[in-house]
Amino acid sequence: MKKQQYIVSVDAGGTKILAALIDSNNTITSKAKKSTDAQNGAAVVIKRIIECIETVLAQANVKTNQLAAIVIGIPGSLNSQKGIVYLAPNLSWKNINVANPIKKHFNVPTLIENDANLGALGIHHFGLGKKYENLLGIFVGTGIGGGLIINNKIYRGKSFAAGEIGHIVIDPNGEKCGCGNYGCFEAIASRTAITREIKRVIKNGKKSVITKLTNNYDLIKSGTISSALKLNDKVTKRALKSASETIGLVIGNMSNLLDLDAVVLAGGLIEACGDFMLPIIRKNAEAVALPQNFKGMKIVNSSLGDNAALYGGIALAKEKGFLFGSKTN
Ligand SMILES: [Zn+2]
Repeated sequence: MKKQQYIVSVDAGGTKILAALIDSNNTITSKAKKSTDAQNGAAVVIKRIIECIETVLAQANVKTNQLAAIVIGIPGSLNSQKGIVYLAPNLSWKNINVANPIKKHFNVPTLIENDANLGALGIHHFGLGKKYENLLGIFVGTGIGGGLIINNKIYRGKSFAAGEIGHIVIDPNGEKCGCGNYGCFEAIASRTAITREIKRVIKNGKKSVITKLTNNYDLIKSGTISSALKLNDKVTKRALKSASETIGLVIGNMSNLLDLDAVVLAGGLIEACGDFMLPIIRKNAEAVALPQNFKGMKIVNSSLGDNAALYGGIALAKEKGFLFGSKTN
């Protein structure tokens, strides 16, 4: 009997680590989740990644010798060939080799990739019902991440840092961004930026149902924003509309540069408020896009939710030659 093979796909985010065991039919057979505890340093995070991997293996009674590869998505710039993360601000990492300790621990080939790249790859292969050759994934959450698929492959750029759509400057006189610049896309349209705007308006004396829904204005969750939207809260609506207009503007510009087949929006905020945001995003993209480029370009929500980057791991493992399963792939 042929040995069933698996991969483990890990999404190591700033707040939580998600791991999934995936079989040769591209089915997630077990999952685990842990808080990242990034404040305790890289060694602790790596240990927690290892624990998550051990959990998904134990839950499915799968041994490490049945694994074809381990793939880890990291929110930062990194060298996927060397396994080194150059800079991951949300993890407070600088020049950390993540792949080696995990590879040594399990004795399994271990790949790392930028999480937005993995997310875009997951959406490209598994999220749209068909493959779109040129695709941009935009992940709106605490920040805004981007992953570019060009000619069916991740576009990484000369130093593995392509896709940093969150740091396109929209307004040089705008709010300060985590990167040090002013008026970056993510400083204007991320959930963090929307939260800041809602807080500012409330402080200026405007009434909002948000004050009843949460006590923590520093971190208004996507679910809270969605609840306020359903209650027709004007303050929330205005902040979301403004962010959606900026997202549309950026997509229109990207369409002009790249003549894309599809733009897929993902992340907690889009999942919670996409129905309200998408029509505004489309309208504002169309307003700046060249008609020929806009025509036939899909702008949709991701259907994969939290799993996009995990599914991206399957595609990356195959792309790197770690074929698994009995199919021809
Ligand atoms: Zn920035």
